[in-house]
Order: sequence, then structure tokens, then C-alpha cells
Amino acid sequence: MRLEELAPGVFACLTPDRGLGWSNSGLVNRGGGLVVDTFWDLPHTRALIATYARVAREPIRRVVNTHHNGDHCWGNQLFEAAEIIGHRACAAAFGRDASPAMLQGMKALAGGDDPALAAFARALEEWDFTGIELTPPTTLIDERLDLDLDGTRVSLLYVGPAHTAGDVVVHLPEERVLFTGDVLFRLCTPIGWEGTYAKWTAALDRVIALDPAVVVPGHGPLCGVEGPREMKAYLEYVRAESRRFFDADLTTLEAAKRIDLGPYAGWTEPERRLFNVERAYREFRGEPFDAPIDVMAIFRGMHELRTARAA
Ligand SMILES: [Zn+2]
Repeated sequence: MRLEELAPGVFACLTPDRGLGWSNSGLVNRGGGLVVDTFWDLPHTRALIATYARVAREPIRRVVNTHHNGDHCWGNQLFEAAEIIGHRACAAAFGRDASPAMLQGMKALAGGDDPALAAFARALEEWDFTGIELTPPTTLIDERLDLDLDGTRVSLLYVGPAHTAGDVVVHLPEERVLFTGDVLFRLCTPIGWEGTYAKWTAALDRVIALDPAVVVPGHGPLCGVEGPREMKAYLEYVRAESRRFFDADLTTLEAAKRIDLGPYAGWTEPERRLFNVERAYREFRGEPFDAPIDVMAIFRGMHELRTARAA
């Protein structure tokens, strides 16, 4: 992981995009310290804390979770002195997805004879989910929360349900720095959970309108507003293509196979487009934004897309 100073006392801790769970974090080293997102397991979060300790002398006083996915908050418990802040829907979603114990158990399937499960298990190889105690936010946001950290303004803005129901972005207007969480994936194919295309593109429009000079995405490298612009174009394109294939009665997997990714083909994990096709189909069928998703079926489909690409 790499610490980068974006403005005086404002840092990003960036991990290389190596697939599932490799996320970014941030530190505003003022007013006792505010950390934006922890990591997926305790060993990686300990390394994150050691990285921040190079510049922050005191224990961190505040942690903001941009949303509830484990790769942004399963290290929360290690910030023992911190107030944990997040959206009300983020806190409510803690414990709803696969648990740390379940993921730890899945790692044993890496050598099994189910190729899709084995591939998923191998993607977890570098993570250790033991010892995690889910530690949800206790300071809850509805629309926004404005903080003053020794004169530095930090605004936490609710922009969901875009990537998940409880998406929050962290904006430093004077420094023109914005931490987006997974509202933005950069050069990396986005996955959406609970939310809608309309809300996600509106969230990206809001990100662009804030006019940041530096954007820290949830996954992938730093960027400017070209990042959210490109991702918005990707979402609109995949939705339009999905409409065409939905109208032609193709399955989501068939649709995903036929979508020509064009300029987005170089983004990592292109097979995640199946998640986005699934979301589009749910919307075309008029289902609610938080309709249950058959995650394992989608991972199996993604495995098929990956294998087809490699063949
Ligand atoms: Zn993430």
C-alpha cells in the first residue's frame, strides 16, 4: 500500500488493484484525525494503521465508512478510540451479506472440484477473515454531516442508493479533494449491489459538480473528474446495451457475452459487467432497487465469462 499526500495533511492510502477487495482509504490528519474506510481484514487494516502512524501521532478519533461492503469496514474494530460514522442504511446493512466466517470457510474450496467456487476461493487467498467483529457506525448520517476539523471543512454527503443503499462521499471543498468510496471505480469494472442506474449516474453527476481536483475512488488509481465522467458513460452504455438484449429475450449471461466493451475492455475484471446487466434487467422488470440478488449465480456466470475470454 502506498501513502500519497493530496493536500497538506490530507492523504490517500492506495492499494494496487488486484481484484476483489483491494480498496483505497483516506486520512484527514486534522482535528484528531479522520479516516475514510478501513480494509477487508485485520492484517491489512493493521498495515493501514501502521502506514497512517507515519504521519498521525495520536490514535485516530473518527472513521467514516463510505458504505457497508466488508472491503471498506471490516477493519473498523481496530480503531478502538474512534467514533464510527456512516449512513443509516450502511449501519443497517452490517451483517446482512456473507459473514467473515463464511468467507473464511470458502477459502477451503480453492482446491475443490467446483471450478467457479475454486476460482472465487482463490481470489480470497491473500485475505484472512479470522477475528473480525462487525463494528457498524454509531454516528448516523441522513442527508449530510458537516465537520470542522481544526478549521478544515469536511462534508459527508449521502448520494445513494447508487452502489449500495448507504453510499456516502467525503468532500473537502477548500482542498478540492473527494473520497468517493465505491460510487467510483477507476479503470476497474464497477459492481453494484442495491441501487439504481438513475441514482448511480446522478451520484456521479454530483461528484463532477463538486469540481474536485483530486478524486480518490473506492478501487483503482487517483483521478480527476475524467474518472466519474468515464464511469457514467460506461454505466449508460451497459444499460442501453442491456435494454437491447432484454427486448430480444436474451438471458443476462447471453447479453453479457455479446456486449462489446470497446473502450472499457481494458478495465480490470470486465466479467463484472454481468452484475450490471443483472441490475439493468431487474429495473426493466420493475423490481425494487434492493431486490435480492443471487450472488453465487452471478459469480458462476462471471466465471463462465472469464473462461470464455481466456479460451
Ligand atoms: Zn469496494
